[in-house]
Amino acid sequence: MREPAEAAAPSSADPATGDGPTRRKPATTSERAAAAKKTVPAAKRAAAKKTTTAPKKATAAAKKTAAKKTTTAAKKATAEKAPAKTATKPRAARKPESRVAMVRRARRINRELAEVYPYAHPELDFRNSFELLVATVLSAQTTDLRVNQTTPALFAAYPTPEDMAAADPEALEELIRPTGFFRAKARSLLGLSVALRDRFDGEVPGRLEDLVTLPGVGRKTANVVLGNAFGVPGLTVDTHFGRLVRRFGWTAQEDPEKVEAEIAEIFPKSEWTMLSHRLIFHGRRVCHSRKPACGACPIAPLCPSYGEGETDAEKAKKLLKYEMGGKPGQRLRPPAGYPGEPAPPLGAG
Ligand code: SF4
Repeated sequence: MREPAEAAAPSSADPATGDGPTRRKPATTSERAAAAKKTVPAAKRAAAKKTTTAPKKATAAAKKTAAKKTTTAAKKATAEKAPAKTATKPRAARKPESRVAMVRRARRINRELAEVYPYAHPELDFRNSFELLVATVLSAQTTDLRVNQTTPALFAAYPTPEDMAAADPEALEELIRPTGFFRAKARSLLGLSVALRDRFDGEVPGRLEDLVTLPGVGRKTANVVLGNAFGVPGLTVDTHFGRLVRRFGWTAQEDPEKVEAEIAEIFPKSEWTMLSHRLIFHGRRVCHSRKPACGACPIAPLCPSYGEGETDAEKAKKLLKYEMGGKPGQRLRPPAGYPGEPAPPLGAG
């Protein structure tokens, strides 16, 4: 840095005289005073401006940061206090949803359920299409767990359609008694086994139109068999499926066939079977018929029926079932990847 004296020294010679550096006449006292007077207010003004601007800037920045902090903290507090409520204001109350928006939301729910239940599967134990057909017929009006606890002895006694077609009706009734409605179910099993033996060479047919001609087999049973034993996409509109799609606002239909037709319009065929498993899984574990666990529901922000059930997170958590509630599942032989415990055999729990 240059010293002040050096800075004040003239730097050029006078070209006309050839003299050395030109010397200015020293200023008079009054000139100096005037200059000083001029300089001081300018400096003061500059300093004052700087001082005034800086605090102003600092105050504005501080205010901004504080406001940001307050807003973030408030947001956080609100979210912590009522996370689901904030996120799940009923959609119907916000504004009417267009068809396009509903389809987009429906597909998003399907994607999110796929992440929650990557292991979704049919909850009936079976080793082939005949066993799945019989187990599905038996599952009417009872739980899959009860069917799974009953079928090991049944399939040990009658492993093929031919064996079951030749069964003594009373012995068959006795074996399936734990599933309820055992007389009617025994009639269906005998009838469908005879039909398989006589009309389909002892094989379960892989077409819906053939399956529904079998005694005791409706569209729902046929779709379960097609989707899970033949890899043919199908929607399984059971009680859980119907309840959930209405709660999601995907349809208002009550009739299973109309529900199936409307849901088929929303999703590509390739999704039908797994969508059915995911909805049934969610209905059994979280979105129960009488008391849905809304406060513990992973898709609550997408559901217009949030609030139909328990919204308190702790209380809702206690309503979760099967592997989500830390309890055994329904299958005695669950597929690989199932994170829960297998179900106990009949009489063991
Ligand atoms: S549990 Fe509640 S929030 Fe979740 S899907 Fe069912 S109704 Fe909707």
